[in-house]
Amino acid sequence: MSIAYEQQATVALQQLGLSVAEQQLDQAAQQAAAASWSYTHFLGYLLDAELRFRHQKTVRLNLQFANLPYQKRLQDFDFQQQPSIDQRLIDELATGRFLHEGRNTVFLGPPGVGKTHLAIALGVLTAEMGHRIYFTSAIELARRMARAMADNRLSREIKNLTRPKLLIIDEVGYLTLETAHASLLFQAICERYEKQQAIVLTSNKAFPDWSQVFAGDAIMASAALDRLLHRSTVINIRGDSYRLKEKRHAKGSAHAQEVTPTE
Ligand code: ADP
Ligand code: MG
Repeated sequence: MSIAYEQQATVALQQLGLSVAEQQLDQAAQQAAAASWSYTHFLGYLLDAELRFRHQKTVRLNLQFANLPYQKRLQDFDFQQQPSIDQRLIDELATGRFLHEGRNTVFLGPPGVGKTHLAIALGVLTAEMGHRIYFTSAIELARRMARAMADNRLSREIKNLTRPKLLIIDEVGYLTLETAHASLLFQAICERYEKQQAIVLTSNKAFPDWSQVFAGDAIMASAALDRLLHRSTVINIRGDSYRLKEKRHAKGSAHAQEVTPTE
């Protein structure tokens, strides 16, 4: 009877689609016998292996579809170099609570201060929590929606934009959008707001200048800001470009190396 069940176990795991548990069954059973595991310990061990494998696969797919220009992590960010950021705000974001609250995050500041880095890092973290994310620049998003509108599939495209748990809209305000594009960006923001789905957005433009972002339409800009900021964390980053600082630092140390031999 017991032998029959043992044979059945492999087949059952296979039929249930638990392929990792199936692969590990023999080795886990031997380990369990050798270490006198309880039955529940053994079952937990097998299911845990299966779940971990599935989670890794989900994360891999999430990152594959994320459209990230590159991967960065919060751990790669040097907060000492950027004292204008309150690290407690970032730590709170890293818990992922903002995703479930549909709370937006806006990174504001001049070029090179780490806005995109932090936005991507929040995206990677979200993907690793098992959620879908999508990264796009504001102009790319507007163009994509314009193409969808031209093909009579705007409502489907808008629905697609609300699917990811997190939408990252980068570089809002770098390029002034034409009126049609501005109104599409506005629609994307409205739709996510209504579904209480979080947006992480970066911009080099302070809020009072946002009418420029929306093709000079102050009313649309304030309506967009209303929705964006209703539930939000705004992180204002000041200071010099990290890239330029690094360059100056590199030059400085090259210079130091040049003078060392003559000392
Ligand atoms: P922004 O989007 O604000 O223009 P980025 O996020 O693109 O700036 O940052 C420019 C480069 O400098 C990126 O490679 C980023 O990883 C790096 N960087 C910026 N700030 C920091 C920091 N405080 N620590 C580590 N790397 C940083
Ligand atoms: Mg950027």
